[in-house]
Amino acid sequence: MIVSKFGGTSVGTFQAMKNSAEIVGSDTNRKLIVISATSGTTNDLVALGISELDATSQEEILIRIKERHLSITNQLENKEEAERDFKEELTQLRQHLEQVARDKRWKDRLVSFGELMSTKIFIHVLKENGVDAKWLDAREFLKTDSNFGNAVVDLPKLKKNISEKVNSDSVYLTQGFIGSDIFGNTTTLGRGGSDFSAALFAEALEAEKLEIWTDVAGIYSTDPRVVKEARPIKEITFDEAAELSVFGGKVLHPATLKPAIRGKVDVRVASTSEPEKEGTLIVHESLEKPVIRALSLRKNQTLLTVKSLAMLHQYGFLAKLFQVLANYKISVDLVSTSEVSVSLTLDTAVNASNKVELTSDVINELKKFCEVKIEKEYSLVALIGNNLNKTAGISGAIFDKLKDFNIRMVCHGASENNICFLADEPEGEAIVKLLHKEFIEVQE
Ligand code: ADP
Ligand code: ASP
Ligand code: MG
Repeated sequence: MIVSKFGGTSVGTFQAMKNSAEIVGSDTNRKLIVISATSGTTNDLVALGISELDATSQEEILIRIKERHLSITNQLENKEEAERDFKEELTQLRQHLEQVARDKRWKDRLVSFGELMSTKIFIHVLKENGVDAKWLDAREFLKTDSNFGNAVVDLPKLKKNISEKVNSDSVYLTQGFIGSDIFGNTTTLGRGGSDFSAALFAEALEAEKLEIWTDVAGIYSTDPRVVKEARPIKEITFDEAAELSVFGGKVLHPATLKPAIRGKVDVRVASTSEPEKEGTLIVHESLEKPVIRALSLRKNQTLLTVKSLAMLHQYGFLAKLFQVLANYKISVDLVSTSEVSVSLTLDTAVNASNKVELTSDVINELKKFCEVKIEKEYSLVALIGNNLNKTAGISGAIFDKLKDFNIRMVCHGASENNICFLADEPEGEAIVKLLHKEFIEVQE
């Protein structure tokens, strides 16, 4: 069995949906199809949830969502049915906007309309392309806790539920990104979470293969939007790909590979617009093991530094600090400590899959036992590869090229697969371009 996930741009227009449907139909082993919202729609829905929004802007966004979807249904032969199914969702979205107070729970339900709308239309596109799929509401089997915006999945329940719904005699279509808690409230898995949903479904169904169909022909040596010389990687190990996605390779949601590793599911990343290209295979063992294989960049990072003289020759300070962060469900990326201070980086980018919000509550909590300094606008750059912690001279070679930049928080040694550091945000792209040229383009 193959589980195939199609991302936002792969279902963003009629033509894209048609290409995706043709891919689905070209291999009868593709049994579970998971799709995201049409490209741009989740951002629109997030914008609808901003409490300061006035009525005119709200209407503008709703019209944009409507036109985007009707421009797809309009091109179907049997367009009435698809249009009706879509409009049912749109009506519910409008009612939802009127009804509910603006709290976090409501936002997850609000953004879930993106995936509900896209699947309601894609089912018809599949049909016109000869694939008679069954539509499934992912919320019926993907059960989560009630941590809205970043819900944690109940895997045993998923395994039990999904095996009751899906059997290998049919093709099924469902939504990525959304689930529901035990009370039936809609929850979401964090931005970009459809990849993660698809991986969980593949694990739960003991599928052989997970396909991530997107707008680029695989995992590249770095984001091709930033560096035009970036090239697709044929084969990459799970360890490297996991580091790359965690440190900003947006092509995969950071949690995607864990279920695939646990379930021994092969993963392929490929492009819907160039399906004939092999894309990238993620493998357990790769013959080729370059020291530097890829680079990633994450903007909008925040540096939190806490300082306390009480830390000097004391134990328990770090435990206390991390307990406070854990209580507020704040996840930390890089850590660096000195005698009396600790610096941490947090992912505060708007579309981060695991977005951190440093609220005044958590800052006040920290201020009870230390001084707190917050610096924004950093870029986090990571070099991904193999044996990075055992290769003599590698950090010298890297930082020698970066003499003109102000580099902070270098993390080297914790993993054999990455070296990462912070730079001033505006310099992130220039650094990635430079390192790509010096360490990756020379390998060609
Ligand atoms: P989808 O909607 O299909 O999930 P995303 O926009 O989430 O697509 O992810 C694909 C995008 O990820 C690409 O268009 C590319 O700009 C970006 N990206 C970042 N890093 C990489 C990388 N190393 N390789 C490929 N794409 C990358
Ligand atoms: N539609 C969701 C988002 O934009 C999930 C996804 O695309 O994976 O974040
Ligand atoms: Mg994505």
